[in-house]
Amino acid sequence: LPSTVQGDLSVENVTFAYEPGRNVLRDISFDAPAGSMIALVGETGSGKSTLTNMIARYYLPDSGVVRIDGYDIRQLTSRSLAKVVSVVPQQNFLFTGTVGENILAGREGATIEDAIAALRSLDCEWLLDDLPEGLDTQAGSRGGRVSLGQRQLICFARAVVADPRILILDEATSAVDTMTEMRIQHSLGRLLESRTSIVVAHRLSTIKSADQILVFDHGRIVEHGKHQDL
Ligand code: ATP
Ligand code: MG
Repeated sequence: LPSTVQGDLSVENVTFAYEPGRNVLRDISFDAPAGSMIALVGETGSGKSTLTNMIARYYLPDSGVVRIDGYDIRQLTSRSLAKVVSVVPQQNFLFTGTVGENILAGREGATIEDAIAALRSLDCEWLLDDLPEGLDTQAGSRGGRVSLGQRQLICFARAVVADPRILILDEATSAVDTMTEMRIQHSLGRLLESRTSIVVAHRLSTIKSADQILVFDHGRIVEHGKHQDL
């Protein structure tokens, strides 16, 4: 992928089943031009997270193609794809190590200052004071010293450090308290303005600001358009 990636995303006729015969995505197609924001809505189990997983190439489509700037993502190295696409997953994931290491994993060569700047840009710098040993606090899959909401913030900060052209937020604030969510919502406009974003959201304010809303039902897009059109 050239270093000047725009972040044009297109999903073309993607079909996918975790288990043979049970399609979870059915002929999904849409375009997210560079810089645009797409909101995914739809009932639980309708395939929203699965689609985000396809875009990050955690799974490959059974048929159809995901393209970034016209390149089939199957042709990209994991490394170049990871530079372009970051996901704040619904099921937050921390690896064994410190909170700082988890945040800095977003980008090679990132520094502590980048981690702090990422938290600041989310208006969540206070996290450092709340954690028993700040950025040196041990995290990890069994890291009992980090709460669920804190884990989610750490994943969010990791994605901000990555500074990707394409940012995917899958219920990225579902585990944080209302106050924290409001602060992040407030910062979100600035975080998203210069990138392509795919946001799985229930909040009307998020959905309203989307350039396009895709309504999922049983693995299909059943409606799409702007908020005022739906
Ligand atoms: P929610 O709003 O609850 O997050 P969702 O729209 O994100 O739902 P998905 O997580 O994409 O839904 O799940 C879509 C379907 O795929 C569901 O029927 C689910 O049971 C199934 N599914 C999800 N992950 C797996 C998996 N790892 N293995 C098998 N089936 C899965
Ligand atoms: Mg989901």
